[in-house]
Amino acid sequence: MTATQDAPAVDPRPAAALEPEALVDRIEAGHRLTAEEAVAVLDAPDADTFRIVAAASRLREKHFGRTVKVNYLVSLKTGLCPENCTYCSQRLGTEAEILRYTWLKPEEAVRQAGLGIAGGASRVCMVASGTGPTDRDVDRVAGMVGDLKAQHPDVEVCACLGFLKDGQAEKLKDAGVDAYNHNLNTAESHYESICTSHTYEQRVDTVQRAGAAGLSSCSGLIAGMGETHEQLVEAVLALRDLDSDSIPVNFLMPFDGTPLQGHQQLTPLECLRILAMVRLACPDKELRIAGGREMHLRSLQPVGLQVANSIFLGDYLTSEGQDAEADLQMIADAGFTVLGAEERTQRAAADGGAPAGGCCGGTTDAGPCGSGAAVASEAGVAEDARPDTGAEATVKPELRRRGAGTAEPANA
Ligand code: SF4
Repeated sequence: MTATQDAPAVDPRPAAALEPEALVDRIEAGHRLTAEEAVAVLDAPDADTFRIVAAASRLREKHFGRTVKVNYLVSLKTGLCPENCTYCSQRLGTEAEILRYTWLKPEEAVRQAGLGIAGGASRVCMVASGTGPTDRDVDRVAGMVGDLKAQHPDVEVCACLGFLKDGQAEKLKDAGVDAYNHNLNTAESHYESICTSHTYEQRVDTVQRAGAAGLSSCSGLIAGMGETHEQLVEAVLALRDLDSDSIPVNFLMPFDGTPLQGHQQLTPLECLRILAMVRLACPDKELRIAGGREMHLRSLQPVGLQVANSIFLGDYLTSEGQDAEADLQMIADAGFTVLGAEERTQRAAADGGAPAGGCCGGTTDAGPCGSGAAVASEAGVAEDARPDTGAEATVKPELRRRGAGTAEPANA
């Protein structure tokens, strides 16, 4: 082969400008977003971002209406993980000042889940740090799920326990678990830069095991870990190929004491373009804005809801979110309703009581509702622990104090 033949072909035509409305027309007609189109969304200038979001919001509305699915995290076991994921405050040897504790007692896990359900959550995510569960751990979680479902039969339960071994996904399914979360986190081509103690393929394997057992697969990513736009697109298209039912998009919270401490590559408008790109690539999949929402989207959080249809209520695993009440107010202010709120209100009316999470159905003028969410603002985050909304360089994750963002006193 000659040198001339080796040279890449140069397309003499100028790159076509991104026309988001026309692109959405084509997606609605069955077109699958290409990698080039996805990169063009991420590369778009800031000034075009709201136009892209507006176009992508048509897909969100088509598949999810004006509802927001609210999820609530229960950290069953925190810290002390032997893996070395660079982004994680729970990794081996981290100096991040997080709470560390081993398995919650079943009654405590169910009680914490109940706080989120009272605040309007329709899905509870039961998460344990670590490489993966032992069979005994799976039995322990199965018992908790049985207890939780006995008290809250309508709640969806998603387990996130790490890498699954033979038979474990099936056991969780039999116990009533609805979904299993295991994030790909980043592109295969970037994986070794963020973790060397396990492989990308191992992550794919667990997502596939969960799906094969009949669990709804939840797998997403963390943006802002030094990846390129092309790698972000690579990760999202891999999630599309895996047919992940829900896609949590985290934005890196660069915890002190981790290798990515202080790393900051995202702006609020870039975060919106990332969310819009995921919506365009996966129009009918549940798109959840996850960790880092407050830190990175800042005042544009409600704009993110125009393309994402789901958020976590209150706190994250090792960091504080904004107050649960502020989350619910934001949903209502942006003209959305919490998924399931109407049914809960009708059931409560039939029972002659106040609905759980009654202030979250888009009717926040109803005043304090007495739900866990409303109480959260009273017992929640102290003023000096609120997310810093100042200059980017000073934005830091706020360490999670167990209880903050719920009806519990912090560090209860
Ligand atoms: S992301 Fe999960 S596996 Fe990786 S260090 Fe954190 S807890 Fe461990």
